[in-house]
Amino acid sequence: MSEVNDKKIPEKVADHAPKNIFLYPEDRLKALTMSYDNGGGENRRLIKIFNRYGIKGTFHLNSGLLNKPIYVLADKVVELYRGHEVSCHGCSHASLYRIGREEIVREMWDDRLALENLVGYPVRGMSYANGRYNREAVNILKNLGFVYGRTVLSTENYNLPDDFITWNPTCHHFVNTTKSTA
Ligand SMILES: [Zn+2]
Repeated sequence: MSEVNDKKIPEKVADHAPKNIFLYPEDRLKALTMSYDNGGGENRRLIKIFNRYGIKGTFHLNSGLLNKPIYVLADKVVELYRGHEVSCHGCSHASLYRIGREEIVREMWDDRLALENLVGYPVRGMSYANGRYNREAVNILKNLGFVYGRTVLSTENYNLPDDFITWNPTCHHFVNTTKSTA
C-alpha cells in the first residue's frame, strides 16, 4: 500500500467528503412506482387512471391464468400494459414456500418465458404469490436471474431495499373487491 493511501483522512475533511447518492433518471432524488398483482380485469380501469396522471406501474401477471374469467386476455397484454412494466407472479399463482424446488423453477421460469413471448422484452422481476416465500425460493430466483422480488410487507419508509430480491414496498393496500387477492 502506498504512503499516500496509508495516511488517515482528517476527520473534518471526511465529514465533508462527497457521499455516493443514488439518483433516478433526470437526476431525481425520489421516484414513485405502483405495483399490482394477478392481472385482474380491474387493471383496465386502473391503467386508464395511471395514464391520465402520468403514473407508472408494474403489473405482476400469472401467465397460466390469462384468458380465464376475471383475468386479462393474453392478446390484450401488450396494448393494455404499454408504457408500464409487465413482471412475473408465477404461472399458476402457487405459493413458492409450499412447493418443491423443481416446481419453483417451473412456476417462475415458465412464467418468465411466457410473459417475455407476449411483451417482447426481458422480464426481470417478480412478486411473491400470496406474499409468501422462503430462503430456497429466494436462492432459486437469484439463480434464475431474477433481479427483484416484491413482497407485501410495508416498510412505511422510502429507503431502498437491502436486497432487491426481497423488496418490501413502502405501503400496501387492498382493492375493495372480494375477487382480489395478493
Ligand atoms: Zn397474487
